[in-house]
Amino acid sequence: MAQGPSLFETAVQQFERAADVIKLTPYVREILRHPKNEVVVNFPVLLDNGQYKVFTGYRIQHNNVLGPFKGGIRYHPAVNTDEVRALAAWMTFKTALSGLPLGGAKGGVAVDPKAFSENEVTRITRRFTAALGSNIGPEHDIPAPDVGTNARTMVLMMDTYMNSQATATKQASWGVVTGKSLTCGGSEGREKATGQGVQITLENIAKDQKIELSSCTFSMQGFGNVGSWGSVLIAERGAKLLAVQDHTGSIRNVKGIDANALMEYAKKTGGIKGYPEADSCTAEEFWKTKVDVLVPGAFENQITEKNVDWIDAKIIAEGANGPITAAADKVLNERGVTIIPDVLCNAGGVIVSYFEWIQNKRSEHWDLDEVDERLKKLLTRACASVKKESKRLKCDLRTAAYAVGLQRIEAAYVERGIFP
Ligand code: NAD
Repeated sequence: MAQGPSLFETAVQQFERAADVIKLTPYVREILRHPKNEVVVNFPVLLDNGQYKVFTGYRIQHNNVLGPFKGGIRYHPAVNTDEVRALAAWMTFKTALSGLPLGGAKGGVAVDPKAFSENEVTRITRRFTAALGSNIGPEHDIPAPDVGTNARTMVLMMDTYMNSQATATKQASWGVVTGKSLTCGGSEGREKATGQGVQITLENIAKDQKIELSSCTFSMQGFGNVGSWGSVLIAERGAKLLAVQDHTGSIRNVKGIDANALMEYAKKTGGIKGYPEADSCTAEEFWKTKVDVLVPGAFENQITEKNVDWIDAKIIAEGANGPITAAADKVLNERGVTIIPDVLCNAGGVIVSYFEWIQNKRSEHWDLDEVDERLKKLLTRACASVKKESKRLKCDLRTAAYAVGLQRIEAAYVERGIFP
């Protein structure tokens, strides 16, 4: 996952491209080139065999000029400073583009959660949260799930954080994390929100290319939270899923793959490999599958100079963060492929996380229709601003998306000034 070019450099190059186009105030550019705070913690955890192992965890807070830091927690063996920095910076631009009163952060632990028992992962989560201490908080920095973490991880983080607070302020801590279970303060619709955002932004942008979801084909890389929900919701609009890839392998069926049935199968078996209603294929065959829409929904640096020429798609919808390297991005732009950038395409997750945070603050519970309606409204507004900037500045959608976010961040800095 961390192989390839420096991810943080990629993130900086992306925002600098937009900064050049909009002639961003120089000191704002200089500030955004650096994360504001970087917390690294080494913490011991008791294993089931009675031994102790020390794990390394990260929380990098990129920017909070528009509101509290916000961003996911990743559990993966390749988690490292460069990756977390990049993911934190992308959160800053994503929340700004979506018009949320939030900043950007990201965190993680270098661990393969599948290699440890449930009890061990529970202890890792609790001890990591304790080690982060007051570096997170409901009005300061609010984590959420990402690769390798889920609603259970968030509930454990919340419970650990709450139990470290003074008795009288415990109940003010529900919103310290989002992406929690419904029983423990989560929001309706949070689990599917990122995939739903991919579907909403894709439908919106595809229409401009005269592509209707009801008659198009697509392929999906990654079949976890984003990939499985994205597949189910895009297929619900009538699109045909032709190929899927996850860490267990690649599958293909020109007649179409039933996304709901594959979701059930993957939940039961831990991956898509062996799904009986499709043929297994090689990774190369997966990338070469001719489709209208390709959704990379797994990890960063997946579309590179090595496989970019294999891709035969009109639109690439970035469900994952940073799935296309800078070199491959250039090739695809020159070929006229429309790329829906991650900061827009996968913003559905952080938007519904924001809704969860508000509900926690107000002790409210919104029904699913309300969440869905509000999500659609915010994403439609974000798509409209990106398209407008893309026309005005005569640039690709990624540069336009950064331009929208950067101008909001710039306005706040210029008005507030720099202390002291
Ligand atoms: P997840 O852990 O639920 O799923 C990850 C998927 O990637 C799994 O299906 C796994 O099999 C697959 N994968 C792993 N290694 C692979 C490989 N070598 N080749 C192909 N597939 C591989 O994670 P997720 O939450 O779905 O996140 C996926 C991406 O979306 C990440 O880039 C994440 O940062 C981004 N994202 C997630 C959210 C969210 O709400 N979960 C929000 C915004 C962005």
